[in-house]
Amino acid sequence: MSRENDLMEKIVSLAKRRGFIFPTAEKYGGLGGFWDWGPLGVELKNNIKREWWKRFVQERRDVVGLDSAIVTNPEVWKKSGHIGGFADKLVECKYCHHRFKQEDIKESNQCPDCGKSVFEPARDFNLMFKTFVGPVEASTSVAYLRPETAQNIYVNFETIAQTSRLKVPFGIAQIGKAFRNEITPGNFVFRTREFEQMELEYFVNPKEDDRWFSYWVKETIKWFLDLGIKKENLREHEQAKDELAHYAKATVDVEYNWPFSTGAGDKGWAELMGVANRTDFDLKAHGLKYKDESGEFVPYVIEPSFGVERSALAFLLDAYDEVKGGRTTTTESNKEKEVVLHLHKSLAPIKVAVLPLSKKTDLAKVANDLYEAIRKNFISAYDDVASIGRRYRRQDEIGTPYCVTVDFESLNDKKVTVRDRDTMEQERVPMAELSKYLNHKLNEIL
Ligand code: ATP
Repeated sequence: MSRENDLMEKIVSLAKRRGFIFPTAEKYGGLGGFWDWGPLGVELKNNIKREWWKRFVQERRDVVGLDSAIVTNPEVWKKSGHIGGFADKLVECKYCHHRFKQEDIKESNQCPDCGKSVFEPARDFNLMFKTFVGPVEASTSVAYLRPETAQNIYVNFETIAQTSRLKVPFGIAQIGKAFRNEITPGNFVFRTREFEQMELEYFVNPKEDDRWFSYWVKETIKWFLDLGIKKENLREHEQAKDELAHYAKATVDVEYNWPFSTGAGDKGWAELMGVANRTDFDLKAHGLKYKDESGEFVPYVIEPSFGVERSALAFLLDAYDEVKGGRTTTTESNKEKEVVLHLHKSLAPIKVAVLPLSKKTDLAKVANDLYEAIRKNFISAYDDVASIGRRYRRQDEIGTPYCVTVDFESLNDKKVTVRDRDTMEQERVPMAELSKYLNHKLNEIL
């Protein structure tokens, strides 16, 4: 399928219709930049986080995990430079008074809302959400919702190195919520005000920073490719000197070819995640150092930083496919557009759907027992409503890799038919071996 302009609309509508993503508190008009992840969305997100943790923590000897507080001592944000400098340039249109990130209108120099080109002078707008700790709303009790997960990793660096007996090079990983009061949230969950990050801070000897930087760029891209993102939709963008944050020696944005323009980049190409060589800036800012046989030094930090929601959006967009009939309907007159979400099996929210061919009690009982057994091992669904073709379609649309049909023959031969979402091949499998069969199929990848 070509990447049509309306692909985004289709994903937004599918996400809502099938329970992936809804605007938060829609009943009250929503809240700009905040979203709720429904029953399928939470599974998708959990799967993304699990795969990330598996690859970057569980399977590595040199990385450990952390789950730090969202609200921490504000001194952290002072030392990190966020209180002074975590700001975007905000411009206000003189005519319609709408506000934008200067970066977003850099090329057009036009107000995206009214088209005029006269703006108030740009000013800094700090993106951190403020709150108060304790019962007194005074300046002394001001705290911030963290705008990134990385800082508490740095602050815990010495403690973790000691308690986990780690030697450079090593990494600390964290997955968690981050909050940014973005000037212009938008493009669905591409830019939100509350999101989750998956960050790895990898501490290296300063003499080896370039090698590790290239290593982590490759590893992060490999993770997306292994999980099914198409190669042609990913590219590396090495930031030029004038784009680099003041503390960074090098940054590569891993860009995805989104079916929308963010205004800042090159058509649809915009950041999916980033890898930065942050040098010794953060550890120095917090006055931290490290000692081993070679002496005392301040390690450099290589930081691959991913967004969960942005990744989820890329996985959904990349997986979306439309087929003109022929999958679940065979006769010409029945052929209607069928949607298939070719999500990687490990990301699919529901792994298996049990579909009894009839609601008759003896057959339904067998199907129910099977469902009870399977759902102990896999997130599964049970659907006995409407024709089998329609039920396949419902599962294809949400990316369920396997549909298990229980038919009248199953009562005699104790076998069921397993249909593969992608190949549409059907295999007759003994019920007693179904869990083992599915386990093998679902784990043969990665
Ligand atoms: P951008 O240039 O798009 O604002 P950034 O360079 O500020 O992103 P980082 O601070 O490097 O982003 O954050 C790392 C990752 O966190 C991003 O690559 C993205 O996946 C995710 N992320 C950052 N800001 C947001 C947001 N407002 N909404 C959703 N995800 C975000």
